[in-house]
Amino acid sequence: MISVESALEVILKEIKPLGLESVDIASALGRVIGEDIAARWPNPPFDNSAMDGYAVRTIDVKGASNESPAKLSVIYDLPAGSVPQGPIGPAQAVRIMTGAPVPEGADAVVMVEKTESGDGFTLIKAEPRAGENIRKAGEDFKAGDIVVRAGSVIRPAEVSMLATIGVPFVMAHRRPRVAIISTGDELCDISEVPPAGKIVNSNGYALAALVAASGAVPIQLGIARDTKESLREKLCAALSADCIISSGGVSVGDYDFVKDVLKDMGSSMIFWKVAMKPGKPLAFGIIGGKPAFGLPGNPISSMVAFEQFVRPTLLKMAGRTNLFRQSFSATLTKDIKIKPGRMNFIRAELKATDTGFTVTPLDGQSSGMILTMVRANSFVVVPEDSNGFRSGDIVKAQPFDDTVFTGGKPSY
Ligand code: AMP
Ligand code: MG
Repeated sequence: MISVESALEVILKEIKPLGLESVDIASALGRVIGEDIAARWPNPPFDNSAMDGYAVRTIDVKGASNESPAKLSVIYDLPAGSVPQGPIGPAQAVRIMTGAPVPEGADAVVMVEKTESGDGFTLIKAEPRAGENIRKAGEDFKAGDIVVRAGSVIRPAEVSMLATIGVPFVMAHRRPRVAIISTGDELCDISEVPPAGKIVNSNGYALAALVAASGAVPIQLGIARDTKESLREKLCAALSADCIISSGGVSVGDYDFVKDVLKDMGSSMIFWKVAMKPGKPLAFGIIGGKPAFGLPGNPISSMVAFEQFVRPTLLKMAGRTNLFRQSFSATLTKDIKIKPGRMNFIRAELKATDTGFTVTPLDGQSSGMILTMVRANSFVVVPEDSNGFRSGDIVKAQPFDDTVFTGGKPSY
């Protein structure tokens, strides 16, 4: 058996980021940008008002106050989107709106709340600092500045930036297309009520959801039967994808052909018993330059193995450099007793409290128990050499989604 860390290291060594393609920023969320982006113009592009009010010359309003306001004649109105009709001279003001360019001569904007307007004039009731309420051209960034760096994940903030500088398309890493094969003579389609001895192919759906949640594109290839021919046919169809995952047929049973077929198809095959629970059997190989994962068949085993091995792979292919979820130190609320020898991933509920994280291991840890997975949002990671923890211990909790932060998970 090899350790989770060693398996991961061997896998990730084989994985390269996919190439770049031009992407519309309106649909680029979560993609990794592959080029440095320089600003086409400064921001703000021109000196503009941060307030609705009056653009003034500070020299004209020295000492202005409620008791002794300064009277200025208002020479024109300047809404956002228009341009100044001319400079401001002595004892003059312009009524200006937020975002409008500051007219020549003005060196401050007095907010409307500190003024009183009359017919053709305004009373300024406060003395502004020079530059007050003026957003200077380029104070955010200058033309030519690098404002988004290659390797950044495109979040709403990056989208805002790219739109601000008039960049509608960027070069981003391709999203991995992932072929999903479910193996097993016992599997039926979801459209059927399972006949005697059969179960619905739930892994196909679960893995597709995991692929999508990793920012990649799932391609469901359906069910391969437990024959070498059927498996070979599905794997051939899968070769046009960037990554291949199968579930089931990877242990040592009489009908477990995945590793044989992968090998027959020229994969430099690595088959492991990984020292983890759930999820021990795992096949990994490269066919036609594409990484192929033979995940275990048990629903929870396949999800855990996906989370530990496939997700980091897909993130790396998508150009990300931060491949792993953040783990948290949390106070355990119940004892965990296990047999040492494998890294255990105990399904648990992680909660953020005012004083830190707590984590509760859930009942029903067998690898076929899907309800426990539905109730959980994290794994307590128990190292290989440990036989468990006591309630009150500080343990490592690894969330597998963001419900600990976003909430919305009812208790069962
Ligand atoms: P295997 O590794 O093929 O022996 O499968 C192990 C267990 O997982 C068996 O109980 C299978 O019925 C179950 N299993 C395999 N594939 C799937 C699937 N696609 N959906 C749900 N359960 C599955
Ligand atoms: Mg099987």
